[in-house]
Amino acid sequence: MTATRQIEEHPDKERILIGTSSCLLGEEVRFDKGHKHHSYITKTLGQFFTFRPFCPEMAIGLGAPRETLRLVTRDGEIRCIGNKTEGHDVTEKLIATAQEQRPWHAELCGYILKKGSPSCGMERVRIYSAESGMPLESGSGLYAKTLLENFPFLPVEEEGRLGDPVLRENFIKRVFAYRHWRDLAEEGFSMKKLTDFHSQYKYVLLSHDQHRTRALGNRLAQASDEPIESVAQWYFEEWMSLLKLRSTRKNHVNVLQHLQGFLKNDIDKDDKQELSETIDNYRMGLLPLIVPITLLRHHFRRHPKPFVDRAKYLEPHPSELMLLNTI
Ligand code: SF4
Repeated sequence: MTATRQIEEHPDKERILIGTSSCLLGEEVRFDKGHKHHSYITKTLGQFFTFRPFCPEMAIGLGAPRETLRLVTRDGEIRCIGNKTEGHDVTEKLIATAQEQRPWHAELCGYILKKGSPSCGMERVRIYSAESGMPLESGSGLYAKTLLENFPFLPVEEEGRLGDPVLRENFIKRVFAYRHWRDLAEEGFSMKKLTDFHSQYKYVLLSHDQHRTRALGNRLAQASDEPIESVAQWYFEEWMSLLKLRSTRKNHVNVLQHLQGFLKNDIDKDDKQELSETIDNYRMGLLPLIVPITLLRHHFRRHPKPFVDRAKYLEPHPSELMLLNTI
């Protein structure tokens, strides 16, 4: 069940390893022996990602079909018990199985979880009162909670939230960025490499938070006396936290106008006007982000600037995923 699965054939080296709730890939592991196959995951993301499926409830030996589970609070503790059989308490087993998966979790660049599950749900899973049976609060499923505690910066998303274009784009951008970071870590860090890495992501980060991006760049510029492993750690944590923030239309407009400025001596008056109008129409919500980005890509192809060519902003993920069409 934990064997790596490839949905379509692509060179292994270019594929990105993502953990996934097994039922989302069509495995019949749910309580009713059914599945929740998600075709966007397998067909669209499957072109770029290799999935590592895992079902924590099957892994602890519950089998399918099985009694459904729920989270309850009892004596201030969250427990996972059977819906019909209160004594059927799998709390410790679920947490232990999540801990046992830690070695392969550490190899991942992202995780897609099944929403609402008392084992796999990332957030808003109902937690009931053990006494009254009424829903009291919400939280994470126990397997997901352990995963998130062990890997707080891993890009993690639920299949339900992938329907939101902004959250989907954000998750996929973080997955590709996380893979890039892992490649850098494998090569070995140096101040030069970190500074170059930051310059590649600067415009992406600016679209999320301008103030924090500038602060991060300034801190990095002054860090040459610190041990490189420590710089890499704090840089990674702030970089990933910034990427997790929602980017805003206002920040995108600032970045687009900034990039436009690099073309001021290269394009004529009509092209400048067309670019300004396109950015303005994006600002007003009349055009998706992909339109000014495509126009900028076109101008930078004709008038290359090495630092813009290497910047991730104009191509943060493969265009086949069409992620900038809806934001
Ligand atoms: S949500 Fe998680 S525990 Fe439930 S069937 Fe899917 S993989 Fe298994």
